[in-house]
Amino acid sequence: MEPMLRGVGVSHGVAIGPVRHMGTAVLEPPATQIPSEEAPREQARAQAAVDAVAADLIARGNLAGGEAQAVLEAQALMAQDPELMADVSRRIAVGSSAERGIYDAFAAYRALLAAAGDYLAGRVADLDDVRNRIVARLLGVPMPGVPDSDEPYVLFAHDLAPADTALLDPTLVLGFVTEEGGPTSHSAILARALGVPAVVALPGATGVAEGLVVAVDGSSGEVLVSPPVERQEELRRLAAERKAALAASSGPGRTSDGHLVPLLANIGGPADLPAAQEAEAEGVGLFRTEFLFLDDSAKAPSEEKQFEAYRKVLEAFPERRVVVRVLDAGADKPLEFLTPADEPNPALGVRGLRTLLDHPEVLAAQLRALARAAEGLPVHLEVMAPMVADRQDAKAFADACREAGLSAKFGAMVEIPSAALRARSILQEVEFLSLGTNDLAQYTFAADRQVGAVARLQDPWQPALLDLVALSAEAAQATGKSCGVCGEAAADPLLACVLTGLGVTSLSMGASSIPYVRTALAKVTLAQCRRAAAAARAADSAADARAAAHQVLTGE
Ligand code: PEP
Ligand code: MG
Repeated sequence: MEPMLRGVGVSHGVAIGPVRHMGTAVLEPPATQIPSEEAPREQARAQAAVDAVAADLIARGNLAGGEAQAVLEAQALMAQDPELMADVSRRIAVGSSAERGIYDAFAAYRALLAAAGDYLAGRVADLDDVRNRIVARLLGVPMPGVPDSDEPYVLFAHDLAPADTALLDPTLVLGFVTEEGGPTSHSAILARALGVPAVVALPGATGVAEGLVVAVDGSSGEVLVSPPVERQEELRRLAAERKAALAASSGPGRTSDGHLVPLLANIGGPADLPAAQEAEAEGVGLFRTEFLFLDDSAKAPSEEKQFEAYRKVLEAFPERRVVVRVLDAGADKPLEFLTPADEPNPALGVRGLRTLLDHPEVLAAQLRALARAAEGLPVHLEVMAPMVADRQDAKAFADACREAGLSAKFGAMVEIPSAALRARSILQEVEFLSLGTNDLAQYTFAADRQVGAVARLQDPWQPALLDLVALSAEAAQATGKSCGVCGEAAADPLLACVLTGLGVTSLSMGASSIPYVRTALAKVTLAQCRRAAAAARAADSAADARAAAHQVLTGE
């Protein structure tokens, strides 16, 4: 048997090809002293390199569009941070070369970030990437990053910075495997947006030799190293059959006995619409509007800019449901003008709806822009709040929607265990629930979604998480309201069947997952889904829950 490595599958599909490693980090520039008369020239060199790298990141963002663009633009801002540049200048003034000044100033900033914990520590990889790009430019060496190759390959990396993931060419990069990263990390979300198979949190990924052929299964998380040629052929044949079956899949999401489960798309902005339409999404189940705000974290985008983006999205789905989530700032998505800078635990601080209730003018402007955007369109607009903790939160949000004159359904995301436990009480105030299983897992298991080391607890197959889903779905059913899932759990085809069995009424996911989920649902009956859900909840671990559901749904 060929050696098999296992990580966490985060983007479906099978990729077979030779391993290529990501360009490694830039060497440490020499710490030679420069004469003081050269300082101004070195300072100008440093500034020019920073500006060029920021412009390059923005250009990459423009090319990539969607969620990737916002992430790359945030990196460009990081490169041009005035305090960081002031530190570079100071270091050059006392004898550092431009490259050494950058290297040391970034190291000092990096140490601050790494010590700050949670969200900020998670940005260290982004910061290192920016530093490497600037130092490489100054040293005149090739940029670190995606290898140049004319042949398709499987990309292996320690971790992938958003700047790299955004520019992966799907005709050359067959798939990717990283040592770090969790199932809900930036690289995982971007991989799904790109539609290439990906496995993250795979110990030993960087040790797999360049050029060896691997077979990567982005669903199971398995990576076979040097499988024999016959096995490769068999895997290719199975993957081709699967792809053809998927391409042929169309129509609404439903079980084999006709129980309808609308399959909706998660989007970050208008750039994600073509993929959603191509996958025949039955609407949008999660529009993450914060990506419109990340462009410039110093102020809110104008009402006009918001109006234009919302209008494009609402126009794309006539007679369909479009669920817009109001701004979810804070924690892993801080905004300078809203998020307190000194929170000890940002994920437990003022984030999501809490931020908006502290800044009602920002929420009101967003709701006004949405109300205008929906005017005259035949769309079914639904608006929901992130991070609703209790009925008081739900009421405050519904009041704000009413005050803005919004003609839409108002809903609450269930991302905090308290919201699932008291779903009935929350449903007194709003018309629907949407389960954000990424944060719900984070808060249920006290496991930071940014940290690869706790990925086991971020597994949405955890029976405790399934219990909370069941509680929410039962409460919605008892009150005749709907309860969807828009977290990454919905993108797992087997789990999608279990969620259906738990009583979830719609599933929303990155567009590339829709055909997989549609195909899986079409093979099973609602009764099977219910049995699989009961079997999964009766298990004591995520792995046993998955195995039990698999048994019921496939008979294997
Ligand atoms: C979630 O938490 O599951 C969710 C959908 O929201 P986000 O991933 O944007 O936090
Ligand atoms: Mg969330």
